[in-house]
Amino acid sequence: MYYYFQKYFSKILLFILFCFVSSANAESLKFKNIKGRQYLSFDELKKNIQNAQFSWNPLLLTAQIKHEKNEVRFQVDSSFYISNGDQYSLEYPPVFDSGNLYIPSALAEELFTGLGLPVHYSFQKKKVQVKSEKSGNTPNGSLDFIMIDPGHGGKDPGAFGVSGVKEKDITFEVSRYLQNYLKKEFPLLKIYITRDRDSFIPLERRSDMANTKLKGNSFGLFISIHCNSALQKSVHGFEIFYLAQNPGSDEDRKVMMRENDIVSSGDPDIGTIESYLLNSQILAESKVLARQLNRTLMTEYGNMIVSRGVRRADFRVLRKALMPAVLLEIGYISNDHEVQVLQSEAFKKNLASSLSKGIKNFIKYRPVI
Ligand SMILES: [Zn+2]
Repeated sequence: MYYYFQKYFSKILLFILFCFVSSANAESLKFKNIKGRQYLSFDELKKNIQNAQFSWNPLLLTAQIKHEKNEVRFQVDSSFYISNGDQYSLEYPPVFDSGNLYIPSALAEELFTGLGLPVHYSFQKKKVQVKSEKSGNTPNGSLDFIMIDPGHGGKDPGAFGVSGVKEKDITFEVSRYLQNYLKKEFPLLKIYITRDRDSFIPLERRSDMANTKLKGNSFGLFISIHCNSALQKSVHGFEIFYLAQNPGSDEDRKVMMRENDIVSSGDPDIGTIESYLLNSQILAESKVLARQLNRTLMTEYGNMIVSRGVRRADFRVLRKALMPAVLLEIGYISNDHEVQVLQSEAFKKNLASSLSKGIKNFIKYRPVI
């Protein structure tokens, strides 16, 4: 009896501590529903984001938010915004409603990550929780390891290609080549792989494996490799995803559902699995990593498989990673041409070598956020 008491007592204490830590200083900002779309009040956001400079031009209806060297700009009724010099699109634009400025929740998330703000945040059903950090939690130390994660495995084959080929086999082979290239390219780094055979590993366990390798001030990178699949056979190209709680588009939401093993019920809330307080600075680095890989892959193998760009979605496998993490959909195995390319040894080697170069570029040009 005492044994059990002791066993569970420590767990209960830990749970209480966790609740306390995760809710400490966290502000809740409620969503406003405007024409069936989720918005946040710009003024409320401004109140809760410290260390950033907000400016508003009432004539042009443009806003500019700066934090250190980062800058995000947007305009009322425009579905485009500029983040650190690059233009991106939103599913729906910022609006004025009863004299107040409201921004889509996806743009609010862009502010947290694009500006590299020292906050933790969590998007929930009716609100977003924002908790300011006193000091940044950016992995500013030295890179110590890279964890490669071949998607799926064992009883989980992933998607099936037109020829019957399984996603789990392609992801494994590319990961193996990548492991070899990285070992050669970075002899001082530890290169790990989440599975070295055709075995089943639950999604959350994969990022846990990477987290246990974190030591002191050092940090790691987590690279998860997948193949995409679509009902429409003509869809093709590679995509690089980083973690965000607001998926970039309906298409991104579909990929997220498939990789998270969620069957679509038509209810958009089904995709919002339990929310964690995410570290916006780690996510900002993940975005930089995704963009760098995309740039390198476009020049290195863009002639074989075209880029569909850098995208964002809430992937279970990335959510718990305490380090920059990306998920690659290296091509569509539902496409007749790409499934052949993806099965070619020369291509797999080429892709792995390009990825290794992309990681090298990320390390070289990595900004200090
Ligand atoms: Zn997959």
